Amino acid sequence: MIELGPWLERAVAEVQAWAETHGEYAMHPSLAVTDEGLAAAFELFGARLRDNYPFFHPRYAGQMLKPPHPVAVIGYLTAMLINPNNHALDGGPATAAMEREVVADLAAMFGLETHLGHLTTSGTIANLEALYVARQSHPDRGIAYSMDSHYTHARMCGVLGVEGHSVPVDARGRMDVDALEGLLRTGKIGTVVLTAGTTGLGAIDPIDDALPLAERYGVRVHVDAAYGGFFSLLGRDGAEGIPSPPWLAIARCDSVVVDPHKHGLQPYGCGAVLFRDPAVGRFYVHDSPYTYFTSDELHLGEISLECSRAGASAAALWLTLRLLPLTRDGLGAVLAAGRRAAVRWADLISASEWLELYQPPELDIVTLYPRTRPASLTAVDTASALMLERGMNDTVDPVFLSVLRTDASAFMARHPSVVRDAKNARIVRSVLMKPESETYLDWLHRRVEEIAREATGA
Ligand SMILES: *Cc1c(COP(=O)(O)O)cnc(C)c1O
Repeated sequence: MIELGPWLERAVAEVQAWAETHGEYAMHPSLAVTDEGLAAAFELFGARLRDNYPFFHPRYAGQMLKPPHPVAVIGYLTAMLINPNNHALDGGPATAAMEREVVADLAAMFGLETHLGHLTTSGTIANLEALYVARQSHPDRGIAYSMDSHYTHARMCGVLGVEGHSVPVDARGRMDVDALEGLLRTGKIGTVVLTAGTTGLGAIDPIDDALPLAERYGVRVHVDAAYGGFFSLLGRDGAEGIPSPPWLAIARCDSVVVDPHKHGLQPYGCGAVLFRDPAVGRFYVHDSPYTYFTSDELHLGEISLECSRAGASAAALWLTLRLLPLTRDGLGAVLAAGRRAAVRWADLISASEWLELYQPPELDIVTLYPRTRPASLTAVDTASALMLERGMNDTVDPVFLSVLRTDASAFMARHPSVVRDAKNARIVRSVLMKPESETYLDWLHRRVEEIAREATGA
């Protein structure tokens, strides 16, 4: 593995060498600080940052969080020393060119033959842009999304003043296509949002079944693959037991969102939206009296709702993809390890005396609950919450999990024998997005079994 320290020195030297080509200059005294001053502030700062969870460690098997790859850090920090703004070519031609290249790489990953797209600050903004274009395309019709889709869709429908419609899901958390068709028949829907990897369970909506329906009813299809998008690298080949039809169908959808800051090894501040039809650029048309002077080409700011964006994000992703390209053996190998860990853990859980699998994982998110006596929603809820707390507060051998609130009907659809004595129940959820989860799986399973035993008083 590369050493970050020497590479950061090289980053500073690189930018300094470039700066020197522009002649000497002196920094203004108003900006001066002393080493002693910084040392004192940094000591406080370091202490403050210790109030964190160890996202980097295999002990952390909770939310969708992990540090960026060192290569992304080097790319980001190097470009940040220059601080280009990818709003317009005036703000940094080099990183704007990198952005176009990585966006083309993402489009190729999904099999899109044509595209218009750009990076965004987040999956939220990327989805907002897709829904904005959806509204402009079908101004009088609503937007449908599944009950298990990310809450951002309902919220952004509010922001955009579009009617949002929630579609029921099946017993695996995937959009119910028959229910969707019922809704499409009303003529109220202009766009359907399908999720490739729901945030809670990692479920894949049946994109391949919904797409022909949407075509029949003249409805746009947007795919929210903010979390799951990079699984295209495996899914399109049917690798690691991931069925290919939904992944292959994405190439025929109207837009897709993916978050390089989730599974693309990037620091936060990197989402992406891609449109299949470049003509949607017309919905972004605006005039800026401040920018767009250096070229007649379309500037990135002319095809995005955000203005300033970090050129460093594009730089970090560009550098990362030189080393871990968007192939099955490149970045795909990172996702495959987490996926294998999830599949094997599901088997271990199914054979466990203390744990119950909530549902088989479709990607790398594992959901489970402790076997309680009595087996009721209330008992499951209490014991799951206790597992979270016990796990992370253990001073000797902690394990960091997360919980997911399931509603009673969803729970009963999977486990009808559990007593329905509450409206919902929290269960345990683990996102195995670090490849090291595969190496440490036996430890994780043993530890989770132990705390389940403690939490249920067994
Ligand atoms: C994370 C996520 C979002 C929101 O993206 P942010 O980058 O957190 O803003 C939207 N949809 C899905 C499916 C997600 O997993």
